[in-house]
Amino acid sequence: MRLSKFYLPTLKETPAEAEVVSHKLLLRAGMIRKLTAGIYSYLPAGLRTLNKISQIVREEMDNAGALEILMPTVQPADLWKETGRWDFYGKELLRMKDRHDRDYCLGPTHEEVVTDLLRREVRSYKQMPLNVYQIQTKFRDEIRPRFGLMRGREFLMKDAYSFDINEEGADKSYKAMYDAYMAIFTRLGLDFRPVEADSGSIGGSFSHEFMIIADTGEDTIAICENCTYAANLEKAEVVYAKKECVKKEVTQTEEVLTPDTHTIAELCTFLECAPEKTIKTLLFNVDGEAVAALIRGDRELNEIKLKNFLNATELEFANKAEVETWTNAPTGFAGPKNLSVSKIIADNELLLDTDYITGANKKDTHLLHIDLERDCTITAYTDLRVITEDDSCPRCGGAISLKKGIEAGHVFKLGTKYSKCMNAAYLDENGKEQTIIMGCYGIGISRLIAASIEQNHDEHGIIFPPQIAPFEIALLNLTPKDEKTSEKAEEIYTLLQGLGIEVLYDDTTERAGVKFNNADLLGLPMQILVGAKSLDNGIIEVKNRKTGEKNELKIDNLRENILNWRDTVILSWKKS
Ligand code: ATP
Ligand code: MG
Repeated sequence: MRLSKFYLPTLKETPAEAEVVSHKLLLRAGMIRKLTAGIYSYLPAGLRTLNKISQIVREEMDNAGALEILMPTVQPADLWKETGRWDFYGKELLRMKDRHDRDYCLGPTHEEVVTDLLRREVRSYKQMPLNVYQIQTKFRDEIRPRFGLMRGREFLMKDAYSFDINEEGADKSYKAMYDAYMAIFTRLGLDFRPVEADSGSIGGSFSHEFMIIADTGEDTIAICENCTYAANLEKAEVVYAKKECVKKEVTQTEEVLTPDTHTIAELCTFLECAPEKTIKTLLFNVDGEAVAALIRGDRELNEIKLKNFLNATELEFANKAEVETWTNAPTGFAGPKNLSVSKIIADNELLLDTDYITGANKKDTHLLHIDLERDCTITAYTDLRVITEDDSCPRCGGAISLKKGIEAGHVFKLGTKYSKCMNAAYLDENGKEQTIIMGCYGIGISRLIAASIEQNHDEHGIIFPPQIAPFEIALLNLTPKDEKTSEKAEEIYTLLQGLGIEVLYDDTTERAGVKFNNADLLGLPMQILVGAKSLDNGIIEVKNRKTGEKNELKIDNLRENILNWRDTVILSWKKS
């Protein structure tokens, strides 16, 4: 492609609206343009990268035996009412009416549509396993669309859905998708980790998110430095070394006046004690039931763990009136002794010690020398807190580090969540009707462009891996007025095209400096620089955009020299 015939509107200035580097560079490199909040057009270079990522995803899905289909964007409300999600999904679902006043939505995901499609088609166990996927535009009316392609409202997703006759088959389908995702993110040249994710009320550990490691990520993940364990913060288990806890005899509890101590820090200063000796009592309304959660004063409660432990649908902090009724005191003095709640769930860590300080359920008062076993009625001990870098890996005991990640993919075992309420059934070998077991698997194709740039860029611009770059090679004619140079550049352009290598040939009359800057900004992995001076010496210059390494290639035997150098550039990507 000749740059003179291409549309690459690069910008010198960074648009003010862009916060993260990928958004800035995508705008500056002329790859995308904003229509309105969270909704973007892809310009020619942007679309080329989007299509390349789609193609890699497509190839690996096909390899895994999934079949490509394409489902509609507009979905009838009736299907969403069957699963209850018309009411449940909330404002992310963009709803609309047709001319007959019937309700529709723009698809944010396709479980309903695909289940409807296949319940009409699949009758017999012989038709499964089946896995269908599509690469299609989704719409989610995100509350905070931001970071350009990272969190859009309209975005491109690959979504796949598997259909199996039994758990064993569903596990196999899940594993096949997990493996396909490993292959996809590896081929994309990304630093990523599959992490165990919370699968909410659906239960089971069958959910993994594929996280691209990047400081701008919105998720935090706990990674073991020693083994492959990685988990979402919501899910990461906290374990304790199995050292014996020698419980000390504790003297009788004692009330102590603690005026004006509203925080753990203030309490500890006032009582001259360590926060490890205090217990926080947090009160919740869980599906209409009064529940207290206890954790050490210096720890953070993981509400998702509490919610999952109680198998709850709704978990809300208790309001003022509830707190006052349950504690028989003003807010701020809750404690586990003599508390009127139906359950008290305590964090495992509290088992390691005795002699704690807690609220006294009395204004301006705390209790000293609390022994939970002796003084309170604890319903259960479980893992309730957020993991920290001081904890150790629940699998191997290695050191845990917390990192930021961008969720790029999600594999999920759905079980019969959709097939049951939508009546997607088949006849088994004995002619008996059974519910289909499903899985769903998403990849944010457009988000991946942003994620890749977050990982691969420098102060000059994007650094594209060869497999997803809009073109592989930037060919720059540095002295276009010189006839000999132009002739050579044209010759190389024809040569590369003949070899089937995608090249963007800067044949414009811009100054060399402008051409260098634009080439670095767009970040094609290889640059070939043709200028009068070097030609006189019988060479052309080449640059590896990633390493910055420059080489001189002899004009004699140029075809072979270019191909060999191209191999080294591709290798430099494989090595890292
Ligand atoms: P998030 O937690 O980031 O909102 P999600 O859990 O809602 O993601 P899924 O429903 O699992 O996402 O969707 C599958 C994939 O689609 C995600 O892994 C992500 O890569 C992509 N995706 C989701 N929401 C967006 C968005 N607003 N913009 C771009 N890509 C998105
Ligand atoms: Mg979301």
